[in-house]
Amino acid sequence: MANQDNKNQDNKNNNFFNNNPLLAFAIFSIVIIMIFKSFVGEGEGLGTVLNSNNIAQTKQVKYSEIKTQIESGSIKSVKLTPSTVEAIADADGRRVRYVAQNVPTYDKDLIPLLEEKKITYEGVMGNGFLSELLSMMLPILIFFGIWIFLAKKMSKGMGGGILGAGKADKLINSEKPDTKFSDVQGVEEAKDEVKEIVDFLKFPERYMELGAKIPKGLLLVGPPGTGKTLLAKAVAGEASVPFFSVSGSGFIEMFVGVGASRVRDLFAQAKKEAPSIIFIDEIDAIGKSRASGGQMGGNDEREQTLNQLLAEMDGFGTDTPVIVLAATNRPEILDAALLRAGRFDRQVLVDKPDFDGRLAILKVHSKGVKLSSKVDLTIVAKQTAGLAGADLANIINEAALLAGRFNKKEIEQADLLESIERSFVGLEKKNRKISEVEKRIVAYHESGHALMAELTKGATRVTKVSIIPRGLGALGYTLHLPDDEDRFLKQKHELMAEIDVLLGGRAAEEVFIGEISTGAGNDLDRATAILKDMVSVYGMSDIAGLMVLKRSENSFLGGGMASTDYSEQMAEDIDNHIKATLNERYAFVKKTLNEYHQAIENMTAVLLDVEVIEGTKVRSIIDEYEKENNMKSRLAHGDKIAKAEAFAKEQALKNQEEEDA
Ligand code: ADP
Ligand code: ZN
Repeated sequence: MANQDNKNQDNKNNNFFNNNPLLAFAIFSIVIIMIFKSFVGEGEGLGTVLNSNNIAQTKQVKYSEIKTQIESGSIKSVKLTPSTVEAIADADGRRVRYVAQNVPTYDKDLIPLLEEKKITYEGVMGNGFLSELLSMMLPILIFFGIWIFLAKKMSKGMGGGILGAGKADKLINSEKPDTKFSDVQGVEEAKDEVKEIVDFLKFPERYMELGAKIPKGLLLVGPPGTGKTLLAKAVAGEASVPFFSVSGSGFIEMFVGVGASRVRDLFAQAKKEAPSIIFIDEIDAIGKSRASGGQMGGNDEREQTLNQLLAEMDGFGTDTPVIVLAATNRPEILDAALLRAGRFDRQVLVDKPDFDGRLAILKVHSKGVKLSSKVDLTIVAKQTAGLAGADLANIINEAALLAGRFNKKEIEQADLLESIERSFVGLEKKNRKISEVEKRIVAYHESGHALMAELTKGATRVTKVSIIPRGLGALGYTLHLPDDEDRFLKQKHELMAEIDVLLGGRAAEEVFIGEISTGAGNDLDRATAILKDMVSVYGMSDIAGLMVLKRSENSFLGGGMASTDYSEQMAEDIDNHIKATLNERYAFVKKTLNEYHQAIENMTAVLLDVEVIEGTKVRSIIDEYEKENNMKSRLAHGDKIAKAEAFAKEQALKNQEEEDA
């Protein structure tokens, strides 16, 4: 133990200036000030420097010599300050200045002597001690000014204070969280996996006596906002141990060596307060695979930081109850060295929650707010498939804000539903103006999507169609909220249905406007991606059969090159297949739109009028059209829509009953 500390100390001294650039700057500045001062002349005040225009020579002399000079009559004028005497002599037309420091102020003979010799004299108050002091302080003040300025600039980037470089004070967050496992919901498997750590942190001796090997590092892997940080905090909270957290990206600084020294400090702090938890968020920022580093030579700073982290993790034994938790949403890019035994050799998946999980998370987050007793959180959970815990927390908060804006006493179901919509498509931007021409294009485009969604078996029904631009990029949107419980599986016909719906937008533009806009770019992108996955991942084509065709990124060459593990011929076949399928579906979609020509026109007209229409309106427009033309009802396409509508009716009835009660 002691030995190791020594080593640490040596290391620290080696990197001293690297790690403390500000300190280096301070020392450098002091040297400059000293040189500056020796040039100006020992003890010369600022005032005298400024007055020295015509002086040929300045001599530092003893006070007694000045007095002798005065007596001999060579002095023309004298300046007196509380502690110095300055005498100007005019010797052969050359002016010489004599300066005496530390003059005995009790020399009462001086003034009568000056009077007697008729020498002009003056007392200068400021020009002594004070200006002396000022002249000394000014460079120091300037230096401090620059220092603070630089420090502020740097700390913006790294969260460190003035003395923060190398001493990771602010960057390392230290707390004793009171988060409990019950605050983390919907990630039950992950919770089970970390539970044993809590016991170890609580009773380390018990495990050490048995010689049990406890994992040092645990990697929490999962999409953003799923509760990785929260889970790590809950471990600390349950075990009631200190929680030291840092973010990987915060480690990487402009000064080489800063990151490494921060890692050192982090571990030193955690060890001092062991048992404790270290949490490194976004570990991929430090731990990116060295092979995929990009430029030749890689990133020195990151590599040093990573090496330090590896050294620290290897440095403490299983007898030190410190557990390092790290989080990433990109485990595949991590350096293999990080995942080796004794480091982050255990990975825990923290995934997006399913229906039950979402419901539990919603319940946790609605504890702090006032929900109306009529609110049914199961509906919210049903409509938020695919969202992470952070999104759900946000939905509750957003709903509270909405309710507040309308001066409600409680949050109602409508607020929650509006809030869901917002989180799905971004904030409504009613004030953004689009031209009439654009609006017309968007209206036809969205009507095309909506019609295909309603007509195609296996597609999700339309909840809402809008031509009000929302969020980034989307000019209009057709909202399909999943009506069933969570779907983890999709059947082939459902994927094909998705493609038809996606193509509906562009086809409508072509059929009704006669020209295609750039608005369908994203739709086509998604349709192509679905087809590609069907062929190469899901084995849903005759081209590749059951063969899975992966494209593997060759990270060694900088990540830019992709190589395939299938033949050129296969690649060509796939391309042809995708192209042909898209063409075939597109032709079918156009044909369908033509069959429902007037329905699209009607829908577009309503959209242009009111900008937003509900799914029920979409269906009634189509129903009406079918009736007028004696067509087979679209409901024949599947009982899914009927089921959904029955569900909505049932819900409305339930609400009514509650209202009546
Ligand atoms: P991550 O670290 O995975 O990106 P966070 O833990 O920072 O996600 O989650 C952000 C916030 O979202 C949390 O503070 C919490 O309020 C909420 N949250 C996320 N996941 C969950 C969950 N599983 N249970 C409860 N709340 C969650
Ligand atoms: Zn579209």
